[in-house]
Amino acid sequence: ILEINHMKKSFDDLEVIKDISLSVNEGEVLSIIGPSGSGKSTVLRCATMLEKMDGGELIYLGEHAAEMNNEGRSVYASKKDLKRIHKHFGLVFQSFNLFPHYSVLKNIIDAPMSVDKISRKEAEERAMALLKKLGLEDKKDAYPFQLSGGQQQRVSIARALALQPKILFFDEPTSALDPELTGEVLKVIKELAQDNMTMIIVTHEMQFAKELSDRIIFMEDGVIQGEGTPEDIFNTENERIKDFIGKFA
Ligand code: ATP
Ligand code: MG
Repeated sequence: ILEINHMKKSFDDLEVIKDISLSVNEGEVLSIIGPSGSGKSTVLRCATMLEKMDGGELIYLGEHAAEMNNEGRSVYASKKDLKRIHKHFGLVFQSFNLFPHYSVLKNIIDAPMSVDKISRKEAEERAMALLKKLGLEDKKDAYPFQLSGGQQQRVSIARALALQPKILFFDEPTSALDPELTGEVLKVIKELAQDNMTMIIVTHEMQFAKELSDRIIFMEDGVIQGEGTPEDIFNTENERIKDFIGKFA
């Protein structure tokens, strides 16, 4: 459903992503772990086309968002094609990114109405079903500032789901939250996994990654240093990975 081949990305002289290849199958949960500055967010930002890769290819459901030329440089599809490919995925950030001057309901229905061109009625029905699912029915008229961090993050998840993506990306969805609020967001993500949502999750929550992931990737210095099932990764002989995981134990 998603394939990344030989992704490369530099910022000026800094080579942040050196050569990353990964793929995700439908219904799979892939977690990406690794030290701060290893390039995890950059991989997500490139995969979701918030940043352009310098090299490598990006393929969603068999459609090339970016191809590689002879030198391995990325050549992006047309704006029109990218717009269509964009609908395959959603992204949830660490910092919620809700529109502060919109109510919860408006935050959720805005994109489905403008991007998917569905009617207000249908958008509201979709939104209310999601709010119910995420335990936020009574918050539809609240504004983001009136919500706890955990509630805001659940609204951002509802907002991403309202566009009915095939893949959902999360970049440290709980790292801005107090421990007691982290649980409610992780629970929602777990429920999505049970519904077979395809997800790529950058996280520092080791226990969560272990429980939920089909596969875990350990990134360091812009490359994948290890990849496997949670069992593989948590029982690895690789000293770097052991050391990293050990810090969270
Ligand atoms: P963390 O766990 O702290 O979120 P990360 O693994 O997500 O770290 P990235 O945010 O991908 O790391 O950053 C990797 C490197 O790229 C860092 O050295 C960072 O300073 C650099 N970097 C990221 N974005 C930019 C940018 N827009 N311009 C310049 N440098 C950047
Ligand atoms: Mg990051």
